[in-house]
Amino acid sequence: MREVIIIGSGPAGYTAGIYTARAGLNPLLIASSVEAGGELMKTTEVENYPGFPTGLQGPELMDAFRAQAERFGTEVLLDDVIEVDLSGTVKIVKTGGGQTFEAKTVILATGAAYRELGLPKEKELSGHGVSWCATCDGFFFREKTIAVIGGGDSAMEEANFLTRFASKVYLIHRRDTFKASKIMQERALANPKIEVIWNTEVAELLGDGKLSGIVTRNTVDGTTAQLDLDGLFIAVGNDPRVWLVENQVELTAEKFIKVDGRSSKTSLPGVFACGDVIDPTYRQAITAAGSGCVAALDAEHYLASVK
Ligand code: NAP
Repeated sequence: MREVIIIGSGPAGYTAGIYTARAGLNPLLIASSVEAGGELMKTTEVENYPGFPTGLQGPELMDAFRAQAERFGTEVLLDDVIEVDLSGTVKIVKTGGGQTFEAKTVILATGAAYRELGLPKEKELSGHGVSWCATCDGFFFREKTIAVIGGGDSAMEEANFLTRFASKVYLIHRRDTFKASKIMQERALANPKIEVIWNTEVAELLGDGKLSGIVTRNTVDGTTAQLDLDGLFIAVGNDPRVWLVENQVELTAEKFIKVDGRSSKTSLPGVFACGDVIDPTYRQAITAAGSGCVAALDAEHYLASVK
């Protein structure tokens, strides 16, 4: 039986790996088969992670996290957890690859997943003009006209990044002010290839088999218009990934995993949670990493107490 299994491989998961490995707990970190490294694998320049004054690429940062976790003995498994039973003192974790593991503690660091607009055709056109990842798909839109939906940091970042490829980027936001940080807003507003369309939401996706445009709706007066597009990037935030455990641990009203105060303790003994899956507010790489450290220390104390 394992002392610790960590589920998730973003900054929270890997930090929990570094700390529990250094504590001699030989953690198994189940990183996902296709999404190992988490959201930062889909981002470009990370400028605000302390310790890197000139910035670095998101995937580069996650490679460093992983290398540091492995250096102390974290075992990283590139597989997906498909089922858990966390209720007993022995926690059961099953993977898509057909393995079943047992552990005394589990650290949930499953992060958050991209939010959809909830429109008809959204799934059908995903990968056919509709995307959630500029770094993955931007290259396909060289000299094309595209739109980014959203008003947060992700939308600003995606819109700026996409101007490397696209000839024109509409940045469509449902209100008349952005939610994004000032520096990110200023960069987007100063970019000559970006045109902001304020007070506007997407009413309909157009195209059969491939996106050809959208119908927009003005959120103030309700008027609609058609906008021809080659691509649409949706950056309207994300939701905590809780499906694996939602019937086992207590959630908050906003459907994040509920933890006890400033700790990582969930409603089940021996089960800890950290990173974006518990955080409705800050959701930064550095806060996720800090929270992974908290979970590792809590797991360590729990193991010492049950020995
Ligand atoms: P976010 O901050 O939650 O912003 C989501 C944006 O999408 C908001 O402007 C929101 O509008 C809009 N929105 C939500 N649902 C919508 C819908 N159904 N239709 C149209 N618009 C919708 O999400 P995020 O930008 O992904 O950022 C998530 C977190 O990561 C934040 O804490 C952010 O600071 C962080 N982040 C940081 C960086 C960086 O520092 N370099 C980069 C990316 C992300 P309203 O404004 O009206 O609510």
